[in-house]
Amino acid sequence: MYIFATLKMKIFLVGSGIGGMSCAATLAYNGFDVTIIEQNDYFGGKAHRISEYGFQFDTGPCLLTYPDWFDELFISCGKNVKDYFQYQRLDPITRYFLSDQHVDVSSDINQTAKNFEEKLGLKKVVFLNYIKRWIRIYDISEKIFLINELKFNFFFFKNALDWIFKAGVVNIFSSMAHYNKVLKNKSVEKIMNRFATYTGSSPYRTPAFMNQLAIVEMVKGGFYPNDGIHSISKALYRLCEDLGVKFQFNTKIDSIIFKNNLFKFYSNGEVFTSNYLISNIDYYKTQILLDRKFNRKSLKLSTSAIVFYWGVKINSSNLKLHNIIFSEDYKNEFSQIFDNNLIPNDPTIYINITSKFDKNHAPENCENWFVMINTPPNLDIVTEKNINKTRKFIISKISDKVGIDLEGSIIFEKILTPKTLENKTGSFNGSLYGDNQNSLISIIKRKKNKDHKLKKLYYVGGTVHPGGGMPLALRSGMNVAKNIINEIKYI
Ligand SMILES: Cc1cc2nc3c(=O)[nH]c(=O)nc-3n(C[C@H](O)[C@H](O)[C@H](O)COP(=O)(O)OP(=O)(O)OC[C@H]3O[C@@H](n4cnc5c(N)ncnc54)[C@H](O)[C@@H]3O)c2cc1C
Repeated sequence: MYIFATLKMKIFLVGSGIGGMSCAATLAYNGFDVTIIEQNDYFGGKAHRISEYGFQFDTGPCLLTYPDWFDELFISCGKNVKDYFQYQRLDPITRYFLSDQHVDVSSDINQTAKNFEEKLGLKKVVFLNYIKRWIRIYDISEKIFLINELKFNFFFFKNALDWIFKAGVVNIFSSMAHYNKVLKNKSVEKIMNRFATYTGSSPYRTPAFMNQLAIVEMVKGGFYPNDGIHSISKALYRLCEDLGVKFQFNTKIDSIIFKNNLFKFYSNGEVFTSNYLISNIDYYKTQILLDRKFNRKSLKLSTSAIVFYWGVKINSSNLKLHNIIFSEDYKNEFSQIFDNNLIPNDPTIYINITSKFDKNHAPENCENWFVMINTPPNLDIVTEKNINKTRKFIISKISDKVGIDLEGSIIFEKILTPKTLENKTGSFNGSLYGDNQNSLISIIKRKKNKDHKLKKLYYVGGTVHPGGGMPLALRSGMNVAKNIINEIKYI
Protein backbone atom coordinates (compact mmCIF):
# COMPACT_ATOMS: atom_id res chain seq x y z
CA MET A 1 0.00 0.00 0.00
CA TYR A 2 1.40 3.40 -0.99
CA ILE A 3 0.49 6.33 1.18
CA PHE A 4 1.00 9.86 -0.03
CA ALA A 5 1.98 11.49 3.23
CA THR A 6 1.84 15.05 2.02
CA LEU A 7 -0.52 14.80 -0.89
CA LYS A 8 -3.47 12.56 -1.53
CA MET A 9 -3.79 12.56 -5.29
CA LYS A 10 -7.31 13.27 -6.47
CA ILE A 11 -8.64 11.09 -9.26
CA PHE A 12 -11.97 11.25 -11.08
CA LEU A 13 -13.46 8.16 -12.55
CA VAL A 14 -16.55 8.35 -14.75
CA GLY A 15 -19.01 5.46 -14.46
CA SER A 16 -19.87 3.17 -11.56
CA GLY A 17 -19.94 -0.14 -13.47
CA ILE A 18 -18.08 -3.20 -12.22
CA GLY A 19 -14.83 -2.02 -13.89
CA GLY A 20 -15.17 1.50 -12.50
CA MET A 21 -15.78 0.37 -8.92
CA SER A 22 -12.97 -2.25 -8.91
CA CYS A 23 -10.54 0.42 -10.14
CA ALA A 24 -11.77 3.00 -7.63
CA ALA A 25 -11.51 0.59 -4.69
CA THR A 26 -7.93 -0.42 -5.59
CA LEU A 27 -6.84 3.19 -5.97
CA ALA A 28 -8.54 4.29 -2.75
CA TYR A 29 -6.92 1.45 -0.80
CA ASN A 30 -3.57 2.67 -2.13
CA GLY A 31 -4.02 6.19 -0.87
CA PHE A 32 -5.79 8.03 -3.69
CA ASP A 33 -8.71 10.38 -3.18
CA VAL A 34 -11.22 8.94 -5.67
CA THR A 35 -14.56 10.32 -6.82
CA ILE A 36 -16.84 8.37 -9.14
CA ILE A 37 -19.12 10.45 -11.32
CA GLU A 38 -22.23 8.58 -12.43
CA GLN A 39 -25.08 9.66 -14.71
CA ASN A 40 -27.72 7.51 -12.99
CA ASP A 41 -29.03 7.75 -9.46
CA TYR A 42 -27.73 4.21 -8.85
CA PHE A 43 -24.44 2.27 -9.12
CA GLY A 44 -23.64 -0.93 -11.02
CA GLY A 45 -24.31 0.09 -14.65
CA LYS A 46 -25.47 -2.99 -16.53
CA ALA A 47 -25.50 -4.98 -13.27
CA HIS A 48 -28.48 -3.13 -11.77
CA ARG A 49 -31.75 -4.36 -10.21
CA ILE A 50 -35.44 -3.87 -10.97
CA SER A 51 -37.63 -4.21 -7.86
CA GLU A 52 -41.28 -3.76 -8.67
CA TYR A 53 -44.59 -5.31 -7.58
CA GLY A 54 -42.81 -7.91 -5.45
CA PHE A 55 -40.55 -9.02 -8.34
CA GLN A 56 -36.76 -8.61 -8.37
CA PHE A 57 -34.81 -8.87 -11.62
CA ASP A 58 -31.10 -8.53 -12.28
CA THR A 59 -31.09 -6.19 -15.26
CA GLY A 60 -28.10 -7.56 -17.23
CA PRO A 61 -25.54 -10.17 -16.18
CA CYS A 62 -26.97 -13.36 -14.71
CA LEU A 63 -24.11 -15.85 -14.53
CA LEU A 64 -21.07 -15.42 -12.30
CA THR A 65 -17.77 -16.94 -13.42
CA TYR A 66 -14.25 -16.47 -12.00
CA PRO A 67 -15.49 -15.67 -8.47
CA ASP A 68 -11.87 -16.05 -7.29
CA TRP A 69 -11.04 -12.83 -9.15
CA PHE A 70 -13.57 -11.06 -6.96
CA ASP A 71 -11.95 -12.66 -3.89
CA GLU A 72 -8.61 -11.36 -5.17
CA LEU A 73 -9.91 -7.79 -5.41
CA PHE A 74 -11.24 -7.84 -1.85
CA ILE A 75 -8.06 -9.41 -0.47
CA SER A 76 -5.92 -6.84 -2.32
CA CYS A 77 -8.01 -4.15 -0.60
CA GLY A 78 -7.48 -5.71 2.84
CA LYS A 79 -10.99 -7.16 3.09
CA ASN A 80 -12.66 -10.53 3.16
CA VAL A 81 -15.09 -11.06 0.29
CA LYS A 82 -17.33 -13.18 2.52
CA ASP A 83 -18.13 -10.10 4.59
CA TYR A 84 -19.52 -8.53 1.42
CA PHE A 85 -21.16 -11.28 -0.63
CA GLN A 86 -21.50 -15.05 -0.67
CA TYR A 87 -21.81 -17.32 -3.66
CA GLN A 88 -22.37 -20.98 -4.42
CA ARG A 89 -21.19 -23.32 -7.17
CA LEU A 90 -24.00 -24.35 -9.50
CA ASP A 91 -24.92 -27.86 -10.46
CA PRO A 92 -26.35 -27.90 -13.05
CA ILE A 93 -25.34 -24.58 -14.50
CA THR A 94 -27.57 -24.55 -17.57
CA ARG A 95 -30.35 -26.68 -19.02
CA TYR A 96 -30.20 -26.76 -22.84
CA PHE A 97 -33.36 -27.46 -24.84
CA LEU A 98 -32.49 -28.98 -28.21
CA SER A 99 -34.81 -30.12 -31.01
CA ASP A 100 -36.48 -32.95 -29.13
CA GLN A 101 -34.92 -33.18 -25.67
CA HIS A 102 -32.93 -31.37 -23.02
CA VAL A 103 -29.51 -31.86 -21.43
CA ASP A 104 -27.82 -30.28 -18.41
CA VAL A 105 -24.34 -28.77 -18.33
CA SER A 106 -22.76 -29.01 -14.91
CA SER A 107 -19.86 -27.30 -13.09
CA ASP A 108 -18.31 -30.79 -12.98
CA ILE A 109 -16.88 -31.63 -16.41
CA ASN A 110 -17.13 -35.40 -15.82
CA GLN A 111 -20.82 -35.06 -15.04
CA THR A 112 -21.33 -32.97 -18.20
CA ALA A 113 -19.46 -35.58 -20.27
CA LYS A 114 -21.68 -38.28 -18.74
CA ASN A 115 -24.83 -36.27 -19.56
CA PHE A 116 -23.65 -35.77 -23.15
CA GLU A 117 -22.99 -39.49 -23.52
CA GLU A 118 -26.30 -40.60 -22.01
CA LYS A 119 -28.54 -38.00 -23.63
CA LEU A 120 -26.77 -37.00 -26.83
CA GLY A 121 -24.74 -40.07 -27.68
CA LEU A 122 -21.29 -38.44 -27.66
CA LYS A 123 -18.67 -40.75 -26.14
CA LYS A 124 -17.42 -39.41 -22.81
CA VAL A 125 -13.79 -39.90 -23.80
CA VAL A 126 -14.21 -37.91 -27.03
CA PHE A 127 -15.65 -34.94 -25.16
CA LEU A 128 -13.07 -35.08 -22.36
CA ASN A 129 -10.20 -35.19 -24.86
CA TYR A 130 -11.66 -32.20 -26.68
CA ILE A 131 -11.88 -30.30 -23.36
CA LYS A 132 -8.33 -31.28 -22.31
CA ARG A 133 -6.94 -29.65 -25.43
CA TRP A 134 -8.69 -26.33 -24.71
CA ILE A 135 -7.65 -26.42 -21.05
CA ARG A 136 -3.98 -26.43 -22.13
CA ILE A 137 -4.56 -23.48 -24.41
CA TYR A 138 -6.70 -21.61 -21.89
CA ASP A 139 -4.00 -21.86 -19.22
CA ILE A 140 -1.52 -19.95 -21.38
CA SER A 141 -4.11 -17.42 -22.54
CA GLU A 142 -5.04 -16.60 -18.95
CA LYS A 143 -1.42 -15.69 -18.22
CA ILE A 144 -0.73 -13.62 -21.32
CA PHE A 145 -4.05 -12.10 -22.32
CA LEU A 146 -6.31 -11.96 -19.28
CA ILE A 147 -4.60 -11.45 -15.95
CA ASN A 148 -2.27 -8.62 -16.89
CA GLU A 149 -2.28 -5.54 -18.98
CA LEU A 150 -1.12 -6.38 -22.53
CA LYS A 151 2.59 -5.61 -22.79
CA PHE A 152 4.60 -6.76 -25.78
CA ASN A 153 7.71 -7.86 -23.87
CA PHE A 154 9.85 -11.02 -23.71
CA PHE A 155 7.33 -12.75 -21.39
CA PHE A 156 4.53 -12.07 -23.89
CA PHE A 157 6.39 -13.34 -26.96
CA LYS A 158 7.70 -16.44 -25.17
CA ASN A 159 4.19 -17.42 -24.06
CA ALA A 160 2.65 -16.36 -27.37
CA LEU A 161 4.94 -18.79 -29.23
CA ASP A 162 4.01 -21.58 -26.83
CA TRP A 163 0.36 -20.63 -27.29
CA ILE A 164 0.55 -20.78 -31.11
CA PHE A 165 2.31 -24.13 -30.88
CA LYS A 166 -0.43 -25.58 -28.65
CA ALA A 167 -3.40 -23.89 -30.36
CA GLY A 168 -2.19 -24.76 -33.86
CA VAL A 169 -1.95 -22.19 -36.65
CA VAL A 170 -5.04 -23.61 -38.33
CA ASN A 171 -7.18 -22.75 -35.28
CA ILE A 172 -6.22 -19.14 -35.63
CA PHE A 173 -7.58 -18.98 -39.16
CA SER A 174 -10.58 -21.33 -39.09
CA SER A 175 -13.80 -20.66 -37.19
CA MET A 176 -15.03 -22.04 -33.87
CA ALA A 177 -17.99 -23.76 -35.55
CA HIS A 178 -15.71 -25.28 -38.19
CA TYR A 179 -13.38 -26.73 -35.55
CA ASN A 180 -16.27 -28.08 -33.47
CA LYS A 181 -17.25 -30.41 -36.31
CA VAL A 182 -14.54 -32.71 -34.89
CA LEU A 183 -17.12 -33.64 -32.26
CA LYS A 184 -19.34 -35.15 -34.97
CA ASN A 185 -22.39 -34.51 -32.82
CA LYS A 186 -24.68 -31.67 -33.93
CA SER A 187 -26.20 -31.08 -30.48
CA VAL A 188 -22.90 -30.84 -28.59
CA GLU A 189 -21.45 -28.71 -31.40
CA LYS A 190 -24.32 -26.25 -30.89
CA ILE A 191 -23.74 -26.14 -27.14
CA MET A 192 -20.02 -25.49 -27.61
CA ASN A 193 -20.62 -22.92 -30.38
CA ARG A 194 -22.77 -20.88 -28.02
CA PHE A 195 -19.70 -19.75 -26.07
CA ALA A 196 -18.94 -17.30 -28.92
CA THR A 197 -21.91 -15.26 -27.69
CA TYR A 198 -20.06 -14.61 -24.41
CA THR A 199 -18.02 -12.09 -26.40
CA GLY A 200 -21.03 -10.95 -28.43
CA SER A 201 -19.65 -12.72 -31.51
CA SER A 202 -20.64 -15.36 -34.04
CA PRO A 203 -19.28 -18.93 -33.75
CA TYR A 204 -19.23 -19.04 -37.55
CA ARG A 205 -16.67 -16.21 -37.62
CA THR A 206 -14.79 -16.08 -34.33
CA PRO A 207 -11.50 -18.03 -34.56
CA ALA A 208 -11.44 -21.66 -33.38
CA PHE A 209 -9.09 -20.86 -30.49
CA MET A 210 -11.99 -19.03 -28.83
CA ASN A 211 -13.30 -22.51 -27.93
CA GLN A 212 -11.24 -22.00 -24.80
CA LEU A 213 -14.09 -19.76 -23.54
CA ALA A 214 -15.90 -22.97 -22.64
CA ILE A 215 -13.24 -23.77 -20.04
CA VAL A 216 -14.19 -20.78 -17.93
CA GLU A 217 -17.68 -22.11 -17.32
CA MET A 218 -17.50 -25.86 -17.94
CA VAL A 219 -14.28 -26.50 -16.01
CA LYS A 220 -13.83 -23.57 -13.64
CA GLY A 221 -17.56 -23.57 -12.94
CA GLY A 222 -20.64 -21.36 -12.93
CA PHE A 223 -21.72 -19.65 -9.71
CA TYR A 224 -24.71 -17.91 -8.17
CA PRO A 225 -24.26 -15.08 -5.67
CA ASN A 226 -26.87 -15.21 -2.92
CA ASP A 227 -29.62 -12.68 -3.72
CA GLY A 228 -28.51 -12.58 -7.36
CA ILE A 229 -25.95 -10.66 -9.37
CA HIS A 230 -26.93 -7.31 -7.95
CA SER A 231 -25.33 -8.42 -4.70
CA ILE A 232 -21.99 -8.09 -6.56
CA SER A 233 -22.66 -4.46 -7.47
CA LYS A 234 -23.79 -3.84 -3.90
CA ALA A 235 -20.64 -5.51 -2.54
CA LEU A 236 -18.37 -3.38 -4.75
CA TYR A 237 -20.25 -0.23 -3.78
CA ARG A 238 -19.87 -1.04 -0.07
CA LEU A 239 -16.19 -1.84 -0.57
CA CYS A 240 -15.68 1.54 -2.28
CA GLU A 241 -17.54 3.35 0.48
CA ASP A 242 -15.57 1.56 3.20
CA LEU A 243 -12.35 2.67 1.49
CA GLY A 244 -13.50 6.29 1.24
CA VAL A 245 -14.46 6.50 -2.46
CA LYS A 246 -16.96 9.31 -3.03
CA PHE A 247 -19.88 8.96 -5.45
CA GLN A 248 -21.51 11.81 -7.30
CA PHE A 249 -24.74 10.47 -8.82
CA ASN A 250 -27.12 12.12 -11.33
CA THR A 251 -24.16 13.69 -13.13
CA LYS A 252 -23.93 12.92 -16.83
CA ILE A 253 -20.66 13.97 -18.45
CA ASP A 254 -21.41 15.60 -21.79
CA SER A 255 -17.94 16.60 -22.99
CA ILE A 256 -14.28 16.10 -22.14
CA ILE A 257 -11.49 18.53 -23.05
CA PHE A 258 -7.75 18.04 -22.55
CA LYS A 259 -5.81 21.30 -22.33
CA ASN A 260 -2.64 22.43 -20.55
CA ASN A 261 -2.03 18.92 -19.24
CA LEU A 262 -5.40 18.82 -17.51
CA PHE A 263 -8.66 17.08 -18.24
CA LYS A 264 -11.76 19.21 -17.94
CA PHE A 265 -15.05 17.43 -18.14
CA TYR A 266 -18.40 19.02 -18.11
CA SER A 267 -21.83 18.08 -16.86
CA ASN A 268 -24.70 20.45 -17.33
CA GLY A 269 -22.58 23.52 -16.56
CA GLU A 270 -20.53 21.89 -13.77
CA VAL A 271 -16.79 21.51 -14.54
CA PHE A 272 -14.44 18.89 -13.08
CA THR A 273 -10.66 19.25 -13.44
CA SER A 274 -8.17 16.43 -13.06
CA ASN A 275 -4.65 15.28 -14.05
CA TYR A 276 -5.89 11.77 -14.68
CA LEU A 277 -9.15 10.62 -16.16
CA ILE A 278 -10.42 7.06 -15.95
CA SER A 279 -13.38 6.35 -18.17
CA ASN A 280 -15.69 3.46 -17.37
CA ILE A 281 -17.96 4.65 -20.16
CA ASP A 282 -18.13 2.60 -23.37
CA TYR A 283 -14.91 3.19 -25.39
CA TYR A 284 -16.65 4.69 -28.43
CA LYS A 285 -18.92 6.86 -26.29
CA THR A 286 -15.78 8.24 -24.62
CA GLN A 287 -14.35 9.10 -28.08
CA ILE A 288 -17.54 11.04 -28.84
CA LEU A 289 -17.22 12.94 -25.53
CA LEU A 290 -13.60 13.80 -26.50
CA ASP A 291 -14.95 15.07 -29.83
CA ARG A 292 -12.77 12.59 -31.73
CA LYS A 293 -13.87 11.54 -35.20
CA PHE A 294 -14.19 7.89 -36.20
CA ASN A 295 -15.97 6.05 -38.94
CA ARG A 296 -19.13 4.79 -37.25
CA LYS A 297 -20.20 2.69 -40.21
CA SER A 298 -17.00 0.66 -40.26
CA LEU A 299 -17.27 -0.44 -36.62
CA LYS A 300 -17.58 -4.16 -35.96
CA LEU A 301 -19.59 -4.16 -32.76
CA SER A 302 -20.64 -7.03 -30.54
CA THR A 303 -24.26 -8.10 -30.23
CA SER A 304 -26.94 -6.27 -28.30
CA ALA A 305 -29.99 -7.82 -26.69
CA ILE A 306 -33.69 -7.64 -26.06
CA VAL A 307 -34.65 -8.71 -22.55
CA PHE A 308 -38.21 -9.28 -21.36
CA TYR A 309 -38.45 -9.09 -17.57
CA TRP A 310 -41.58 -11.11 -16.97
CA GLY A 311 -43.28 -11.65 -13.64
CA VAL A 312 -45.25 -14.84 -14.23
CA LYS A 313 -47.90 -16.65 -12.22
CA ILE A 314 -46.36 -20.06 -12.80
CA ASN A 315 -44.38 -22.72 -10.98
CA SER A 316 -42.11 -24.20 -13.62
CA SER A 317 -40.82 -27.62 -12.64
CA ASN A 318 -38.70 -28.43 -15.68
CA LEU A 319 -36.73 -25.19 -15.85
CA LYS A 320 -33.53 -24.48 -13.93
CA LEU A 321 -31.83 -21.23 -12.90
CA HIS A 322 -30.29 -20.87 -16.41
CA ASN A 323 -32.00 -22.30 -19.49
CA ILE A 324 -31.35 -22.11 -23.21
CA ILE A 325 -33.82 -22.96 -25.96
CA PHE A 326 -31.81 -23.17 -29.17
CA SER A 327 -32.96 -21.89 -32.54
CA GLU A 328 -33.40 -24.58 -35.17
CA ASP A 329 -30.89 -23.04 -37.59
CA TYR A 330 -28.07 -21.56 -35.48
CA LYS A 331 -26.03 -20.48 -38.51
CA ASN A 332 -28.94 -18.55 -39.96
CA GLU A 333 -29.53 -16.83 -36.59
CA PHE A 334 -26.01 -15.35 -36.65
CA SER A 335 -26.27 -14.51 -40.32
CA GLN A 336 -29.43 -12.49 -39.59
CA ILE A 337 -27.64 -10.68 -36.73
CA PHE A 338 -24.30 -9.92 -38.39
CA ASP A 339 -25.06 -9.93 -42.16
CA ASN A 340 -28.58 -8.55 -42.24
CA ASN A 341 -28.59 -6.42 -39.06
CA LEU A 342 -31.98 -7.86 -38.09
CA ILE A 343 -33.63 -9.44 -35.07
CA PRO A 344 -33.47 -13.17 -35.86
CA ASN A 345 -36.87 -14.63 -36.74
CA ASP A 346 -36.07 -17.79 -34.74
CA PRO A 347 -33.75 -16.55 -31.98
CA THR A 348 -32.09 -18.71 -29.32
CA ILE A 349 -33.89 -17.92 -26.06
CA TYR A 350 -32.18 -17.62 -22.67
CA ILE A 351 -34.35 -17.83 -19.55
CA ASN A 352 -33.00 -17.01 -16.09
CA ILE A 353 -35.19 -17.54 -13.01
CA THR A 354 -33.53 -16.45 -9.78
CA SER A 355 -36.67 -17.03 -7.70
CA LYS A 356 -35.71 -20.72 -7.96
CA PHE A 357 -32.90 -19.84 -5.51
CA ASP A 358 -34.18 -16.72 -3.82
CA LYS A 359 -37.87 -17.15 -3.09
CA ASN A 360 -38.22 -13.46 -2.22
CA HIS A 361 -37.47 -12.52 -5.83
CA ALA A 362 -41.12 -13.18 -6.71
CA PRO A 363 -44.47 -13.13 -4.89
CA GLU A 364 -45.93 -16.44 -3.72
CA ASN A 365 -46.75 -18.89 -6.55
CA CYS A 366 -44.95 -16.65 -9.04
CA GLU A 367 -41.53 -16.59 -10.72
CA ASN A 368 -39.28 -13.86 -12.11
CA TRP A 369 -38.37 -14.71 -15.71
CA PHE A 370 -35.51 -12.85 -17.38
CA VAL A 371 -35.94 -13.80 -21.04
CA MET A 372 -33.20 -12.67 -23.43
CA ILE A 373 -32.39 -12.96 -27.12
CA ASN A 374 -29.34 -11.70 -29.02
CA THR A 375 -29.84 -8.91 -31.54
CA PRO A 376 -27.59 -6.74 -33.68
CA PRO A 377 -26.27 -3.51 -32.09
CA ASN A 378 -28.87 -1.55 -34.02
CA LEU A 379 -31.13 1.05 -32.41
CA ASP A 380 -33.54 1.13 -35.35
CA ILE A 381 -34.78 -2.44 -34.87
CA VAL A 382 -36.75 -1.37 -31.82
CA THR A 383 -40.26 -0.85 -33.14
CA GLU A 384 -43.48 -1.82 -31.43
CA LYS A 385 -44.18 -4.21 -34.27
CA ASN A 386 -40.80 -5.97 -33.87
CA ILE A 387 -41.14 -6.24 -30.11
CA ASN A 388 -44.67 -7.69 -30.38
CA LYS A 389 -43.59 -10.16 -33.06
CA THR A 390 -40.61 -11.27 -30.94
CA ARG A 391 -42.71 -11.60 -27.78
CA LYS A 392 -45.28 -13.72 -29.63
CA PHE A 393 -42.59 -15.95 -31.09
CA ILE A 394 -40.89 -16.50 -27.72
CA ILE A 395 -44.16 -17.40 -25.98
CA SER A 396 -45.02 -19.92 -28.67
CA LYS A 397 -41.52 -21.45 -28.69
CA ILE A 398 -41.55 -21.86 -24.89
CA SER A 399 -44.90 -23.57 -25.16
CA ASP A 400 -43.52 -25.90 -27.87
CA LYS A 401 -40.18 -26.80 -26.29
CA VAL A 402 -40.77 -26.54 -22.57
CA GLY A 403 -44.49 -27.24 -22.45
CA ILE A 404 -45.33 -24.07 -20.49
CA ASP A 405 -48.18 -21.89 -21.64
CA LEU A 406 -47.37 -18.30 -20.73
CA GLU A 407 -50.48 -16.75 -22.31
CA GLY A 408 -52.39 -15.03 -19.52
CA SER A 409 -49.67 -15.80 -16.95
CA ILE A 410 -47.49 -12.72 -17.45
CA ILE A 411 -48.55 -10.31 -14.73
CA PHE A 412 -45.57 -7.94 -14.95
CA GLU A 413 -43.50 -6.87 -17.92
CA LYS A 414 -40.58 -4.54 -18.54
CA ILE A 415 -38.39 -4.58 -21.64
CA LEU A 416 -34.74 -3.82 -22.28
CA THR A 417 -33.82 -2.99 -25.88
CA PRO A 418 -30.60 -1.82 -27.57
CA LYS A 419 -31.99 1.71 -27.21
CA THR A 420 -32.70 1.52 -23.47
CA LEU A 421 -29.34 -0.16 -22.92
CA GLU A 422 -27.65 2.77 -24.65
CA ASN A 423 -29.64 5.32 -22.64
CA LYS A 424 -29.15 3.67 -19.25
CA THR A 425 -25.53 2.54 -19.52
CA GLY A 426 -23.97 4.53 -22.37
CA SER A 427 -23.34 1.43 -24.52
CA PHE A 428 -22.66 2.60 -28.06
CA ASN A 429 -25.58 1.38 -30.25
CA GLY A 430 -26.52 -0.89 -27.35
CA SER A 431 -23.60 -3.23 -28.02
CA LEU A 432 -22.86 -5.37 -24.97
CA TYR A 433 -19.08 -5.64 -25.16
CA GLY A 434 -17.72 -2.97 -27.54
CA ASP A 435 -15.99 -4.50 -30.57
CA ASN A 436 -16.96 -8.05 -31.49
CA GLN A 437 -14.37 -10.82 -31.77
CA ASN A 438 -15.42 -12.08 -35.16
CA SER A 439 -11.88 -12.16 -36.56
CA LEU A 440 -8.30 -12.46 -35.44
CA ILE A 441 -7.76 -8.80 -36.35
CA SER A 442 -10.60 -7.61 -34.13
CA ILE A 443 -9.23 -9.70 -31.25
CA ILE A 444 -5.71 -8.29 -31.68
CA LYS A 445 -7.05 -4.78 -32.10
CA ARG A 446 -9.22 -4.88 -28.97
CA LYS A 447 -9.08 -1.44 -27.38
CA LYS A 448 -6.30 -1.04 -24.84
CA ASN A 449 -6.69 0.33 -21.31
CA LYS A 450 -4.43 3.29 -21.99
CA ASP A 451 -5.34 5.93 -24.54
CA HIS A 452 -3.11 5.94 -27.64
CA LYS A 453 -2.54 9.73 -27.44
CA LEU A 454 -3.26 11.07 -23.97
CA LYS A 455 -0.92 9.56 -21.40
CA LYS A 456 -3.18 10.04 -18.42
CA LEU A 457 -6.43 8.83 -19.94
CA TYR A 458 -7.36 5.26 -19.07
CA TYR A 459 -10.29 3.03 -19.99
CA VAL A 460 -11.84 0.36 -17.79
CA GLY A 461 -14.83 -1.92 -18.31
CA GLY A 462 -16.28 -4.47 -20.67
CA THR A 463 -15.53 -2.62 -23.93
CA VAL A 464 -11.74 -2.64 -23.51
CA HIS A 465 -8.96 -5.12 -22.70
CA PRO A 466 -9.18 -7.89 -21.50
CA GLY A 467 -12.85 -8.13 -22.58
CA GLY A 468 -16.54 -8.12 -21.81
CA GLY A 469 -18.36 -9.74 -18.91
CA MET A 470 -18.18 -8.89 -15.22
CA PRO A 471 -14.92 -10.66 -14.30
CA LEU A 472 -12.99 -9.16 -17.20
CA ALA A 473 -14.42 -5.70 -16.52
CA LEU A 474 -13.35 -6.17 -12.89
CA ARG A 475 -9.87 -7.24 -14.02
CA SER A 476 -9.52 -4.20 -16.31
CA GLY A 477 -10.22 -1.95 -13.32
CA MET A 478 -7.63 -3.70 -11.14
CA ASN A 479 -5.02 -3.58 -13.94
CA VAL A 480 -5.50 0.11 -14.60
CA ALA A 481 -5.30 0.95 -10.90
CA LYS A 482 -2.02 -0.99 -10.58
CA ASN A 483 -0.64 0.81 -13.62
CA ILE A 484 -1.46 4.26 -12.22
CA ILE A 485 -0.05 3.34 -8.79
CA ASN A 486 3.22 2.28 -10.45
CA GLU A 487 3.33 5.42 -12.56
CA ILE A 488 2.92 7.66 -9.50
CA LYS A 489 5.58 5.72 -7.58
CA TYR A 490 8.20 6.74 -10.14
CA ILE A 491 7.25 10.40 -10.41
C1 LIG B 1 -28.38 -8.26 -21.00
C2 LIG B 1 -26.97 -8.50 -20.52
C3 LIG B 1 -26.56 -9.77 -20.13
C4 LIG B 1 -25.26 -9.99 -19.66
N1 LIG B 1 -24.90 -11.23 -19.19
C5 LIG B 1 -23.70 -11.39 -18.56
C6 LIG B 1 -23.42 -12.57 -17.80
O1 LIG B 1 -24.26 -13.47 -17.68
N2 LIG B 1 -22.21 -12.67 -17.19
C7 LIG B 1 -21.28 -11.65 -17.26
O2 LIG B 1 -20.20 -11.78 -16.66
N3 LIG B 1 -21.54 -10.52 -17.94
C8 LIG B 1 -22.73 -10.35 -18.59
N4 LIG B 1 -23.03 -9.18 -19.22
C9 LIG B 1 -21.96 -8.18 -19.40
C10 LIG B 1 -21.67 -7.38 -18.14
O3 LIG B 1 -22.86 -6.85 -17.62
C11 LIG B 1 -20.76 -6.22 -18.49
O4 LIG B 1 -19.64 -6.65 -19.26
C12 LIG B 1 -20.21 -5.53 -17.25
O5 LIG B 1 -21.20 -5.39 -16.25
C13 LIG B 1 -19.75 -4.16 -17.74
O6 LIG B 1 -19.23 -3.43 -16.70
P1 LIG B 1 -18.51 -2.07 -17.03
O7 LIG B 1 -17.47 -1.86 -16.00
O8 LIG B 1 -18.09 -2.01 -18.45
O9 LIG B 1 -19.62 -0.93 -16.79
P2 LIG B 1 -21.10 -0.70 -17.32
O10 LIG B 1 -22.00 -1.65 -16.66
O11 LIG B 1 -21.13 -0.58 -18.80
O12 LIG B 1 -21.37 0.73 -16.67
C14 LIG B 1 -20.92 1.94 -17.22
C15 LIG B 1 -21.36 3.04 -16.27
O13 LIG B 1 -20.99 4.30 -16.83
C16 LIG B 1 -22.07 5.20 -16.65
N5 LIG B 1 -22.00 6.23 -17.68
C17 LIG B 1 -22.07 6.04 -19.03
N6 LIG B 1 -21.98 7.22 -19.68
C18 LIG B 1 -21.84 8.17 -18.72
C19 LIG B 1 -21.70 9.60 -18.77
N7 LIG B 1 -21.67 10.27 -19.93
N8 LIG B 1 -21.56 10.28 -17.59
C20 LIG B 1 -21.58 9.61 -16.40
N9 LIG B 1 -21.73 8.26 -16.30
C21 LIG B 1 -21.85 7.56 -17.45
C22 LIG B 1 -23.30 4.33 -16.81
O14 LIG B 1 -24.47 4.93 -16.28
C23 LIG B 1 -22.87 3.06 -16.08
O15 LIG B 1 -23.19 3.12 -14.70
C24 LIG B 1 -24.33 -8.92 -19.66
C25 LIG B 1 -24.73 -7.63 -20.07
C26 LIG B 1 -26.05 -7.42 -20.47
C27 LIG B 1 -26.48 -6.01 -20.84
